[in-house]
Amino acid sequence: MTLKIKQTLASVLLLSFSLSAVAQVTQDMVEASRKTEVWEPVPPKVETLPGNPPSDAVVLLSGDSLDAWESGNGEAAKWDVNAYAMTVKPGAGDIQTKQEFCDVQLHLEFNPAIENDKTDQAKANSGVFLQGRYEVQILDNYTNKTYANGQVGAVYKQHIPLANPSRPAGEWQYYDIIFTAPKFDGEALKSPAYVTVLLNGVLVQNHVEIQGTTEWIGAPSYKAHGCAPIKLQDHGSPNRFRNIWVREL
Ligand code: MG
Repeated sequence: MTLKIKQTLASVLLLSFSLSAVAQVTQDMVEASRKTEVWEPVPPKVETLPGNPPSDAVVLLSGDSLDAWESGNGEAAKWDVNAYAMTVKPGAGDIQTKQEFCDVQLHLEFNPAIENDKTDQAKANSGVFLQGRYEVQILDNYTNKTYANGQVGAVYKQHIPLANPSRPAGEWQYYDIIFTAPKFDGEALKSPAYVTVLLNGVLVQNHVEIQGTTEWIGAPSYKAHGCAPIKLQDHGSPNRFRNIWVREL
């Protein structure tokens, strides 16, 4: 028997098996299957195009405008912006979104400054502060060693990242962050914040519990607050940022 005849016979057998399987699906089975179908709510339609924010995103940086941002003291943001990217202006201070957010999906691209003269925590340090309080670290850790719970991808001094997928300084990298804000009952904590973080598409934090504000010295703690801005850190390094958007969840 030639190979072609064997393949034809196999196809016929497969087809007849499939037809008999279909024939065994009764009306009772169809009706039973419908009992576990849920048709509403219908998920809202979101348009996506490669390289563009989803259609329902709040765009925080797409062109040469810092309109969505301000300094921590409420004055205009003083970082530089051009060519669709903004650059930390060392000494100008942190900047934060004018808009306040609770639960979000955040996309942010960053490019660590090339600082061959610096080491440890001084090397291209910045950070994404969710609700202005909970830092996901930005640092050049391509080869730079520092404490593991303070390297890029860490929830600063709370959670060591699961991996180090960082690229060399001077290359664009990206965070995708899913943040669940803490809930408070008056002044008391009702449920802590949680965060999932992907760095360059690699999972580095998997729904970890945030223990409170991310402190350089001392233990984290919670103090009741509402929705709050997203803050980006000026730690003295001219890191760049671009293509920042959030989806409110
Ligand atoms: Mg930092």
